[in-house]
Amino acid sequence: MVLNKTKLNLSSEIFKHIYEEKENIPTFKAYIAGEWKLEEDFYEIKSPIDLNIIARVTKLKEETVNKAIEFAYNKGRWAIRDTPGEKRLRIFNKIADLLEEHREDFIEALVVGNAKTRAAANGEINASVERLRRADMDIRRMYGEYVPGDWSTESLESEAIVRREPYGLVLAITPFNYPLFDAVNKFVYSTVSANAILLKPSLLTPLPAIMFARILELAGFPKEAFSILPLSGSEMEKYLGDRRISVISLTGSSETGEKVIKKSGIKSFIMELGGGDPAIVLNDSDPAYAAARIATGITSYSGQRCDSIKLVLAESQIYESLKQNLIEEIKKVKIGDPRDPTTNMGPLISEETAIEMIKGVEDAISKGGKLLYGGERDRNYIKPTLIEANANNVIEMYLYNKEIFASVSLLVEVKDVDEAIRLANGRKYGLDAAIFGNDINKIRRLIRYLEVGTIYINDYPRHGIGYFPFGGRKESGIGREGIGYAIEYVMSYKTVVYSYKGRGIWEYL
Ligand code: NAP
Repeated sequence: MVLNKTKLNLSSEIFKHIYEEKENIPTFKAYIAGEWKLEEDFYEIKSPIDLNIIARVTKLKEETVNKAIEFAYNKGRWAIRDTPGEKRLRIFNKIADLLEEHREDFIEALVVGNAKTRAAANGEINASVERLRRADMDIRRMYGEYVPGDWSTESLESEAIVRREPYGLVLAITPFNYPLFDAVNKFVYSTVSANAILLKPSLLTPLPAIMFARILELAGFPKEAFSILPLSGSEMEKYLGDRRISVISLTGSSETGEKVIKKSGIKSFIMELGGGDPAIVLNDSDPAYAAARIATGITSYSGQRCDSIKLVLAESQIYESLKQNLIEEIKKVKIGDPRDPTTNMGPLISEETAIEMIKGVEDAISKGGKLLYGGERDRNYIKPTLIEANANNVIEMYLYNKEIFASVSLLVEVKDVDEAIRLANGRKYGLDAAIFGNDINKIRRLIRYLEVGTIYINDYPRHGIGYFPFGGRKESGIGREGIGYAIEYVMSYKTVVYSYKGRGIWEYL
């Protein structure tokens, strides 16, 4: 199944500067406020393709982390504010140019490091480039307001300007699954609004973020305003409560989100947390179309997406034909080494998740679920899996209650949209939902009652596409990302009240 032993081959000269070969393994440095640091200890980075060690990343000492926070707080947050907005946009465009110029190396890091297919890696780079180039669309959210005083007798002859100001320092914590896009997205909204940023990438896949730091450096981004912190989650925990950090933007699981909020104290939060989405299929939808889109929603990046479909709820009249079409679609998915151009679905990030998936499948079967397809694994390679469950007891199943980051979905027949609403809202997550069908009255009812952040009609959920905001409710999080919207959480308001009392400017009766 695996083509040949994995090895990371970066070809661009610009990256030679950020690692040293030690025992034939590239050992990456960390970018700390303009300096590339290599300390004695390191983390090992494995490729999910064959679990071979492809790189090492320096492990930062406590004093280096403290230095990064100090630089960002004392110098960086002012250096970025003193870089005029139009210049920040020019730097973003330069970063986008460099990303495109060195695209092949980012593809290599995403294919070997994340086990993405080449097409998926390209898609992630395109989304990152577009995010940088469209940073100008954030700007309208950064304007302030003029507020007249004459609506209250208390404030006659005065007026206010409501300014928007950056909070100062954002700590961005990213997950393993979109290691480039998540870093770029958080970087753009944090710094277009003139905050300094510390970026903690997932230690499962830290390389694209470290390479991105090199691109920032070359594009002339103010050096004190950015550092990268390769630390494990538990090591990061001790810095969360640091009062110099005013915003925490985390994308990760709901469990991690809860821990981070508890440790952080009073701050602004953007929490893009766990999900796994329901897809609701109405009687009047086209079963072939709905099945094809849902199958992609279940299998894309091996189900390792927060917006993956994990629960399909189909009305009775369409149920059987949807089921047959869905099984046929899922059967078409070719699993294997993502470096093979015929592969559609690569391995999971780790064997533990594959084991958890099989446990979830066994649990569903023990509670009356029927395995329609899949349910097998070979190390961290799984078959996409579909399980038929009953509307009366699906809520007892592990797969219903807990997001498993793998390509696995429950399929349930529902008698009407109200039953679909009950089962969709019964989960603790509230990220997105998909609706397939045409009946405007049913769709309207679903839109009104579903407790989610985004509803996709006649398509599977896809965050980060276009300019649409995304983010969850309930345990799926706080805040919104997507162009423009995240600005709300990284900028503060400052009201300046001007009094002209007795200056002869206004005359009131
Ligand atoms: P994860 O295990 O929660 O980790 C996410 C990040 O948080 C990693 O960088 C991790 O560090 C760090 N972390 C873990 N514990 C921490 C702690 N106590 N303090 C500070 N940082 C901590 O998630 P993942 O497995 O990488 O990603 C999958 C999860 O992300 C899924 O639940 C998925 O739904 C969610 N996600 C949500 C969205 C969205 O838009 N809502 C998008 C993508 C992913 P280390 O792993 O390096 O230790």
